[in-house]
Amino acid sequence: MANTPQNTMDAYWMPFTANRQFKKTPRIMKAAKGMYYTSDDDRQILDGTAGLWCCNAGHSRSEITQAVSHQIEQLDYAPSFQMSHPLPFELANRLVALAPEGINKVFYTNSGSESVDTALKIAVAYHRIRGEASRTRFVGREKGYHGVGFGGISVGGLVNNRKMFGPLLPGADHLPHTLNIDLNAFSRGLPEHGVELAQALESIVGLHDASTIAAVIVEPLQGSAGVILPAKGYLQALRDICDKYGILLIFDEVITGFGRIGNCFAAEEFGVTPDIITTAKGLTNGAVPMGAVFVSDKIHDTFMAGPEEMIEFFHGYTYSGHPVACAAALASLDIYKKDNLFEKAHSLGQYFEDGAHRLAELEHVQDVRNYGLVAAIDLKSRDGAPGARAFEVFTECYKRGVLIRVTGDIIALSPPLIIEHSHIDELFGTLAEVIQATA
Ligand code: PMP
Repeated sequence: MANTPQNTMDAYWMPFTANRQFKKTPRIMKAAKGMYYTSDDDRQILDGTAGLWCCNAGHSRSEITQAVSHQIEQLDYAPSFQMSHPLPFELANRLVALAPEGINKVFYTNSGSESVDTALKIAVAYHRIRGEASRTRFVGREKGYHGVGFGGISVGGLVNNRKMFGPLLPGADHLPHTLNIDLNAFSRGLPEHGVELAQALESIVGLHDASTIAAVIVEPLQGSAGVILPAKGYLQALRDICDKYGILLIFDEVITGFGRIGNCFAAEEFGVTPDIITTAKGLTNGAVPMGAVFVSDKIHDTFMAGPEEMIEFFHGYTYSGHPVACAAALASLDIYKKDNLFEKAHSLGQYFEDGAHRLAELEHVQDVRNYGLVAAIDLKSRDGAPGARAFEVFTECYKRGVLIRVTGDIIALSPPLIIEHSHIDELFGTLAEVIQATA
């Protein structure tokens, strides 16, 4: 017989959370609508983070609720291998219409982590089908976050996520990260300095030889590490080096996909087309778990033209293209279009940017970075207590009714795209007061 938990919070082992600390002072949401959560003590909490970068159209949209409940009644599940149902086909057509030119195929997953592992496997198999089985290495980037699968943490560059789980995938190298506060502090949009960092890829190719490298994977804009932007020209430089050596380029757009920085994808916004794009989060507005990997015609055609025994991609999930997730995604795409939300990062970006940069004057703020509806307020760490200052700001903001996200001493903001001027004022107004109070 199972043990009886001593209190009602004991049994749940929470992800990426200091469990002992959290359970002493829990933060529990019991409802959400539009831009606000309702906490369990009945306070309205402004959502400055779109959940975890995912509720792009705001919370509890009735269009999604209706689509999901109708779908569960109509068809709750159909096998995803050797069978299907109409919705994943309809959704794929809708999705590729939003993707950059030449990217016209979609493979479904259930999360960002699964999208990343799927993309890495597609890259290796692609080369193998073409007769280049030696291309098995990957290149990621320092501070990169690509989910928590073994593939994702191997190409990822956040040390805490890696250090307990070695030896990881053999053959993963890392480009230097692109954060340079000395040269780029308080940049607005893409920073001026750092395009030369892409040249590190030439060194990695020189070290291992191009014939061993399958793919480079980067977030076009690093989110989880604290909103780290690429310098102007940097992503194009990576694209050029990949092309020179026949290496695939994967953009992990789990955060930037579906309108976060203007345009549906960062690839479009930055004018650089990768070979594969990984997504999740905003695909269903965070309402139902789902991910999607967008693949170029070149890669897909290679699979289809490969030897008979390789035509099948021996990969997939029980819930790939799940009917309920597809219904949520289709309803989300309808909302994004109807409310013109992929435009919001452009139309509101300047106001959001000005709000963020007003915090630059405050004590202990060492950098403010932003693009579209994403911003970071980078605080100087307290001596001997890294992360303590930002965590204090986080808990105090929560008390005052504003949800932000912190990574180390960096505050990351990524509100739902339905945000309005008054919410932007509330977000940065509260943050200013709290940063001042904690100075
Ligand atoms: N890639 C990126 C760029 C992400 O930001 C995340 C999640 N924050 C993931 C992958 C992993 O997604 P999930 O948590 O859905 O597995």
